Amino acid sequence: MRCHYHRDYFFPLPESHPFPMDKFWRAEAMIRAAAPPGLRILDAEPAPFADLLRVHTADYLEKIRRADLSSVEALKLGLPAGEPLLERSRLETGGTLLAAEAALADGLAANLAGGTHHAHADRGLGYCVLNDVAIAIRAIHARRPSLRITVVDTDAHHGDGTAALFAGDARVFTYSIHVGRNYPSLKPPGSLDVPLARWARGGDYLDQLEATLPPALDDHRPGLAFWISGADPHEHDRFGQLRLTDADLAARDAFVLGELVRRRGIPTVVLYGGGYNRDREHTARLHARAILAAALAF
Ligand SMILES: [Zn+2]
Repeated sequence: MRCHYHRDYFFPLPESHPFPMDKFWRAEAMIRAAAPPGLRILDAEPAPFADLLRVHTADYLEKIRRADLSSVEALKLGLPAGEPLLERSRLETGGTLLAAEAALADGLAANLAGGTHHAHADRGLGYCVLNDVAIAIRAIHARRPSLRITVVDTDAHHGDGTAALFAGDARVFTYSIHVGRNYPSLKPPGSLDVPLARWARGGDYLDQLEATLPPALDDHRPGLAFWISGADPHEHDRFGQLRLTDADLAARDAFVLGELVRRRGIPTVVLYGGGYNRDREHTARLHARAILAAALAF
């Protein structure tokens, strides 16, 4: 299993910033230490602008590069715009592009980042600058226009950007299980949205997931899946508003991987999505566990 990784140790975020940029290098270290057989960690490369422009407007990319956001736009994005942020986001997206190619070749791959599902064509929201999954899907469709692709989004938040970008595209099925009354306030409908009550526990989450994901996969019969795993349904997350324990998240990971990889043999790309645990190291641990579960599922 190939895992792509980008080093952004030096991206300038102050210690007090709520986005845990450290989770990337922490999780990478945990995955390397576990060293499951067959798992290789490779460098990511920046996504070409031609790929970005299949999803995002040139004006928006330029606004990010020049840090030319209004104060409201800057607040909604939540990360400091500028050339370093654009470069970091291109590397993150490049990892998803490479992982998608690797999944189509090998059956399973990961980006040790990605799943930035709140990014829309002309705006970034909630720490999401570029919609890496949408960029990868459009890049694949440029070469293989008939490939059916499912996005399985188990992050605690609705995948609003991805849903909006693929509305009306029958080749792409967007599945999202998330808290109904939580960020983002506007939730453009995806192919299947499964809203949960705030502070739902693991049993409710897993019941809903197990009832809705298999029929969606049976109906759409994808040739490729992107799984935005999300560590933020955890009970100690700052923003997720769910109450899944470590064991619940492990059960979720095993179920999703079982359905996608083991039962149906769908080429699958595993991505991090959000994670904002009060214990920053635990955020990294949850992401690493999802990757390691994938490595073992294959
Ligand atoms: Zn989230």
